Amino acid sequence: MKCNYHTHSTYCDGKEPMEKFAAKAEELSFIHLGFSSHAPVDFRNDFAIKEEQLPAYIAEIEEIQKKYPKISFFKALECDFIPEISTPFAYFKEKYQLHYIIGGVHLVGKATMSDLWFIDGSKQKVYDDGLEKLYNNNIRKAVTDFWEQTFEMIETEKFDIVAHLDKIKMHNQDRFFKEDEKWYRQLAQHAIELIKKFNLIIEINSRGLYKGRCNAFYPAAFIVAEAAKKDIPFIISSDAHLSSELNLYYPEAVRYLIDNGVQELVYLQDNQWKSYSIFS
Ligand SMILES: [Zn+2]
Ligand SMILES: [Zn+2]
Repeated sequence: MKCNYHTHSTYCDGKEPMEKFAAKAEELSFIHLGFSSHAPVDFRNDFAIKEEQLPAYIAEIEEIQKKYPKISFFKALECDFIPEISTPFAYFKEKYQLHYIIGGVHLVGKATMSDLWFIDGSKQKVYDDGLEKLYNNNIRKAVTDFWEQTFEMIETEKFDIVAHLDKIKMHNQDRFFKEDEKWYRQLAQHAIELIKKFNLIIEINSRGLYKGRCNAFYPAAFIVAEAAKKDIPFIISSDAHLSSELNLYYPEAVRYLIDNGVQELVYLQDNQWKSYSIFS
């Protein structure tokens, strides 16, 4: 069962219009395709959809649905969580009647900070400069802030899927901290417990791998194995910004999940996430 629920387009920082993704999904025999532009944020940026574009975004997904009846399309957003700054996720879900919300942290900080630490994007230097300028190179404080922001998102926002749970490792490249350090493992473990408590889905996100920015899926194998023990549901996401990225590393992701003890994936049907065997 081929699905992708994490897809960008030219409405945000994606590189192709939504229809290109729909055509590619049909070619790949996908049954589900969810569009998830970066949700509007209240500061100048070039990565998020503008709120005034949302009605057109929704209408275009409905048009695409008519043109490609074999696939089920979903209306969604990838919402950034920034304490004191971002709009509550539920506002978008209710106002625009979205099928689901993906929640993630790309910018670490809050309104009282002079700037936000951008941990995503293609440039390692931006990560390094932010770490120096905003955290005086205190990596443990910076990484702890990332995880605590993730905890706060899980505890205070209404959403469905946690985006690239351990994105913080991407630009680290094993330089400032190691993922097997005890303090880091404890932070990740707490995130897993909260994800279980709030019934959220973890995505296996392949973007770091196919962009060559990270040598592993998000999240790490130890997180997948712990989450599998707790029966936390999983999906596989390519986080595609180009239609050619839609199915990259899909078989590898299935293998990765199986190797780490996962037996089921979930898919969206009648507004409910339902599980199916990963071996089917
Ligand atoms: Zn993201
Ligand atoms: Zn994304």
